[in-house]
Amino acid sequence: MSGMRPALRAGLLPVWRDRDTLQIGVNPRRATALSGIGESAAVVRLLDGSRDWTALIEAAGHAGVPAEAARRILGLLAGAGALADSAARALAALPAVQRGRLASELATASLAYGDSDGGARTLARRRAAFIRVNGAGRIGSGVASLLAAAGIGHVSCEDGEITRPRDLTPAGLGLADLELPRSRGVARAIGRIAPEVRTGDDGSRPDLVVLAEITDPAPGAALVRERIPHLAVGAAEAVGVVGPFVSPGRSACLRCLDLRRAERDPAWPLILAQLAGARLEPQACDTVLAAAAGALAAAQVLLFIDTGRPGAAVTNGTLELAVPDWQWRRRTWLPHARCTCGTRPPRRSDALA
Ligand SMILES: [Zn+2]
Repeated sequence: MSGMRPALRAGLLPVWRDRDTLQIGVNPRRATALSGIGESAAVVRLLDGSRDWTALIEAAGHAGVPAEAARRILGLLAGAGALADSAARALAALPAVQRGRLASELATASLAYGDSDGGARTLARRRAAFIRVNGAGRIGSGVASLLAAAGIGHVSCEDGEITRPRDLTPAGLGLADLELPRSRGVARAIGRIAPEVRTGDDGSRPDLVVLAEITDPAPGAALVRERIPHLAVGAAEAVGVVGPFVSPGRSACLRCLDLRRAERDPAWPLILAQLAGARLEPQACDTVLAAAAGALAAAQVLLFIDTGRPGAAVTNGTLELAVPDWQWRRRTWLPHARCTCGTRPPRRSDALA
């Protein structure tokens, strides 16, 4: 606490409701109002993260605010969750180009999780994380680029196919990556966004694997055996699907989903056998659908890395986006008792929660 350099929580605009009442933030989901501020307004202006507590009280004194009043205001602000440590120190170790962009990441994380460390914990977790993306088409390349831009320290891509014009999107692979193996194209795309991010696969164990547009069941089965969490994402037939997030042994795996589908549709196993390796050209996954599915998949990856827990929306479930409805809808998929992944179906009370 003593080393803290308090600032108003980044990303919240202070506005006056009247002469005496300061409202921190505008959106009702985030805003808090504090009354009795009027005479000590100068203290609020000093909260730029450049002073520690002692220097702050001293500067308030120079601005005509007695120490006791300054402490009271700071206590009010801290109690309302409006104070956070300046993000400057968390970002100091980064190259100058990255600081501006990541400052927005940290401001968002700090508001979302209510951390008062200026996002330092989130940044450290993202920096230490290793995410592997299997499949670098329009969706996977977008996921990898977004993760690198959000501060993930090590993003690798597994995909030997050659980049074709149909793979290019503004969020992922670009013209300069044409004719390269797609995994190398992604490494170059990441280098343009976040040069400090590691892109090679050095044999270390990923914290999470994203299976992007993978129809072959083998990679998912291997990840279940290796106990590596993974997230599926894909889009076809003008429907984007994000999930499930598979925590091996703890939530429904991809095979659980196929067993559930087979229960509803006896022909499913036969259809499934025809899906593996089948390739439709062109695929009905347009640029915006690819970007939307990729962005939501990246958000679920970040949620897991930031908090250590998978998102509830994609645990034992998928999020689906159909064109032109454009509303994310959740479908529940419970673990299947006959699946070899060993996940027990949740108790009824959990399933309803
Ligand atoms: Zn399973």
